Amino acid sequence: METKILLSEKEVPTAWYNIMADMPNLPKPPLHPGTKKPVGPDDLSPIFPMGLIMQEVATERWVPIPEEVLEIYRLWRPSPLIRARRLEKALDTPARIYYKYEGVSPAGSHKLNTAAAQAYYNKQEGVKRLATETGAGQWGSALSMACKFFGLECTVYMVKVSYHQKPYRRVLMQLFGAEVLASPSDRTQSGRSILDVNPDSPGSLGVAISEAVEDAATHGDTNYSLGSVLNHVLLHQTVVGLETKAQMEKAGDAPDVVIGCVGGGSNFAGFCFPFLHDRFVNGAKTRFVAVEPTACPTLTRGLHTYDFGDVAGLTPLIYMYTLGRDFMPPAIHAGGLRYHGDAPLLCQVVADGFVEARAYGQRQIFDAAVQFAHAEAIVPAPESAHAIKCAVDEALAAREAGEARVIVFNLSGHGHFDLGAYDVYLAGQLEDYVLPEEELHRALARLPKVE
Ligand SMILES: *Cc1c(COP(=O)(O)O)cnc(C)c1O
Repeated sequence: METKILLSEKEVPTAWYNIMADMPNLPKPPLHPGTKKPVGPDDLSPIFPMGLIMQEVATERWVPIPEEVLEIYRLWRPSPLIRARRLEKALDTPARIYYKYEGVSPAGSHKLNTAAAQAYYNKQEGVKRLATETGAGQWGSALSMACKFFGLECTVYMVKVSYHQKPYRRVLMQLFGAEVLASPSDRTQSGRSILDVNPDSPGSLGVAISEAVEDAATHGDTNYSLGSVLNHVLLHQTVVGLETKAQMEKAGDAPDVVIGCVGGGSNFAGFCFPFLHDRFVNGAKTRFVAVEPTACPTLTRGLHTYDFGDVAGLTPLIYMYTLGRDFMPPAIHAGGLRYHGDAPLLCQVVADGFVEARAYGQRQIFDAAVQFAHAEAIVPAPESAHAIKCAVDEALAAREAGEARVIVFNLSGHGHFDLGAYDVYLAGQLEDYVLPEEELHRALARLPKVE
């Protein structure tokens, strides 16, 4: 029996899967922040290339992957699917556990799957520079690499707390030619207005997004690039789930439960949407679990409503689960999961009952990460550790029930740049944070009025 289930280079998927062709209810459309009317392609064209705008609203089931993007994918794709035999033994469970390992990408996470595609479509349309935000630094490093591949300049607004916690991510971005600014920065109006109120603001993804959008909107040769949440980003990530489906078939197994962590929803969606297709079309009984931190519990405690994607209110109004746009998540170590909203496509399948959501605290997920590392010899990203913790719980539940449950999770990235966080964990100094009810009400009280 194999441990690594591998595909050949020829088996890299040649089309992305578009869930909008199959889902029973489409999410409500994004609205213009001024007119509150649905945004059209012309509203988005100042900051996005038409190639991506068309993918935002595409309804065909399969979207071909351009050859130039495939050529980059082949640097590390197909990524392995691994049967976690040693973890199964350690847990003494009858469950069969598989994980898809996206940490083999040159950027160390799934994010290069969309970065490469986004850089390609921008290059096609003559854009010179991309501006973006980054939380933990994974997205910024992926986009820096992708921009270098396609000869674009790159400006990254990096959430200040991560800028200081993860200096090596900054170096990696600079090595690939990007300019990196700690956000809030004094480069933009959005950044300066936050600094005026709180010069020591740790920043958040919401603030950094405002800065990058403003930068793109005020420079003709510059576009904006987002690493999660939008439909086209989720679309690009389906290459992960499509490979996993082929690998599960090769292993002769079918998942009972599919698990991923959620920051903005892209790795989870990319992993699970191709399997959800089978549930929509063939009535498969698979369960799907989306895992988030208790410190930023968007799906488990947020409201499903219209909100801005950023703090300053520059983005369209997006219909999603949200904690409120000025919700400032505490500085947990899974920086990539500190976002107040989630992808509308994911929120819709959660609201419609196809996907369960679960939240875990920081200490629990690091316990699971270390248990996983001891068994499988991979140090996971703290974000991915949320999925691991859930997989472990499912495996223990299967043991209780005496059930040979098949558990498949996405190991979205490695944690080699997160050793500072592991250091804090090993020193016994990690703190759990549960969002107090008052804080939730405070942030939600400022939701924009739509009707
Ligand atoms: C960015 C990131 C996440 C969270 O982002 P999603 O869009 O929710 O996937 C999760 N894991 C890793 C390793 C990341 O870099």
